[in-house]
Formats: sequence, structure tokens, C-alpha cells
Amino acid sequence: EMVEFNVFFNRIIDRFEMSKSHKVDFERHLPKEQYFVEIDPDKLTQVIDNIISNALKYSPKGGKVRFDMTVEEGSLLIQISDQGMGIPKENVDRIFDRFYRVDRARSREMGGTGLGLAISKEMINAHGGVIWAESKFGKGTNIFFTLPFEMDDGGEWD
Ligand code: ATP
Ligand code: MG
Repeated sequence: EMVEFNVFFNRIIDRFEMSKSHKVDFERHLPKEQYFVEIDPDKLTQVIDNIISNALKYSPKGGKVRFDMTVEEGSLLIQISDQGMGIPKENVDRIFDRFYRVDRARSREMGGTGLGLAISKEMINAHGGVIWAESKFGKGTNIFFTLPFEMDDGGEWD
């Protein structure tokens, strides 16, 4: 399905922002232009829901969740960053493994199965994109993913 990503993304962020059951502020840095992507909207919603849920769940002291979207060589680059507990450097790449959770004791109280990011990775890869993370333990986490896109040509047909 062809979806305009800005509207799609904003709608998901709105839904979390309106729920207000968290003490985190949202900050959006999204371009004004339209970007059309060929995606499965239900699956992409699941991916973004998990990333935002993680950002909230692993930010017990609040802070900011920042949303960025830029264009890089025919792909959209989406970033969702938080100021939460972060992930020790040696564990960052493992968070996309099935059932992997950084701190078993800590994450047991927070609920979840450790499957969210493994599923997210499968779905982003199936869309022709890549997903990765950068994190500073005690400072916060930034999740990146890309999606191939087609530039809007203003509705002209050739
Ligand atoms: P599920 O998503 O299945 O409910 P989960 O959130 O534990 O459970 P993932 O979303 O796959 O599983 O995340 C894997 C692990 O990576 C988490 O348990 C957590 O330890 C770590 N993690 C993920 N996102 C963040 C984040 N934003 N900040 C800190 N740690 C994170
Ligand atoms: Mg999760």
C-alpha cells in the first residue's frame, strides 16, 4: 500500500501523546514535504509502536522522546531517541535478538517478552530497510531505521 509517511507517522505519535499516562515530553523534527512509501501499514505501525513503547518503558524518570525524519539517498531515515536508562555498550547489538533483554531482573518487573525488536527488525528488513541502535548507558537510546521511498512529483504523470 502507498502511504504518505509524514501523516502516517504523526498519527502514531499523536496516539501516544494523547494517552498521557507517561511523564515524557515528545519533540518532533519532521519535514513538511510529502514522502510516499510502499509499506504494510499494520506492520509498520507495530514496529513504531514497539519503539515508542520501549522509549517510554525504559525512561522511568521521564525526559524527552525525540522524533526525527531525514532523507538519505533514496531512503527515509527515521530516528526515535529517548533520555532513559540506556543500554551498556556491549549489549546494544543484541537487543534485536529474539528474547534478548538487557537486564533480566530489571526487565522482569517491566513486562514484555523481548520479542518486540526482533520482530521489528524482520519487518523493516522485509520492507527493504535496515534498523540499528546507538545508546549510552545511563543517558539514553536512539533507534534508527530506514525505508526506501519515492519522491512526490507533484501529481504529474509522465
Ligand atoms: P516486548 O517488546 O516483547 O514487549 P521488550 O520491550 O523487553 O519486550 P524488545 O522491544 O525486543 O523487548 O527490547 C529488547 C530489550 O532491549 C529490552 O528488554 C530492553 O532491555 C532493551 N531496550 C529496548 N529499547 C530500549 C530503550 N529505548 N532503552 C533502554 N533499553 C531498551
Ligand atoms: Mg519492546
